[in-house]
Amino acid sequence: MTINAEATDCCALDRRRMLGLSALGAAALAGGFGMAFPAHAAGLTKAQRDAMTPAQVLDMVMTGNARFVRGERKTRDWLAEQRSTAAGQYPAAVFLSCIDSRAPVEVICDLGIGEAFNARVAGNAVNDDILGSMEFATAAAGAKLVMVMGHSACGAIKGAIDNVRLGNLTLLLGRFGNAVEATRYEGDRSSANAAFVDAVAKTHVQQTIELIRDRSPVLRGMERDGKIMIAGTFYDLESGKVSKV
Ligand SMILES: [Zn+2]
Repeated sequence: MTINAEATDCCALDRRRMLGLSALGAAALAGGFGMAFPAHAAGLTKAQRDAMTPAQVLDMVMTGNARFVRGERKTRDWLAEQRSTAAGQYPAAVFLSCIDSRAPVEVICDLGIGEAFNARVAGNAVNDDILGSMEFATAAAGAKLVMVMGHSACGAIKGAIDNVRLGNLTLLLGRFGNAVEATRYEGDRSSANAAFVDAVAKTHVQQTIELIRDRSPVLRGMERDGKIMIAGTFYDLESGKVSKV
């Protein structure tokens, strides 16, 4: 990651993107297929990203997940995305998500190279380094959506419920605050109850967002000024759906 997120030659990049799009468009026409899923030849341009509102970025993410659930995806030229973003990046969002191997945000929200930052840590818990990363992603690099994404059947949440003590994991689970105690739930409040585990995960997302606002005057100020949106979501492993929390 480079601190200077600006492309050095945006015009050259735009020319390459246009050439790439033309070639892909011609290929799709020649082959008679691919029109239902327009080819996506490059990452977001600065102009495209800057023209989006925070709400439109959220819509882009949720629409991408809807495609994923339907079994669809944008047809991507990964090498074109890699080449077009090498000299500069203009991501629209920064995620805080879990390391869980079943919850890769870029895949489940159909995002490409250069379109989103993604900080992954067990249980999507925030700390000073994550806050600094979010401040870089937004204030320095221009992302307009900060999204905390929890997920169902999260092992870290189960660990917090069970009050697990294990090496450095103890400190990490300590960052979950009082999400377990704060979760209103009638019934079995153990890690064996999937419904309770998911309820705690959603509480944890909400508390994490409050923590972000409380501990980052930079992000709080940008949200107040309408420059960014801070949103919480929950990914259901069973259905593949991302929903707002
Ligand atoms: Zn998890």
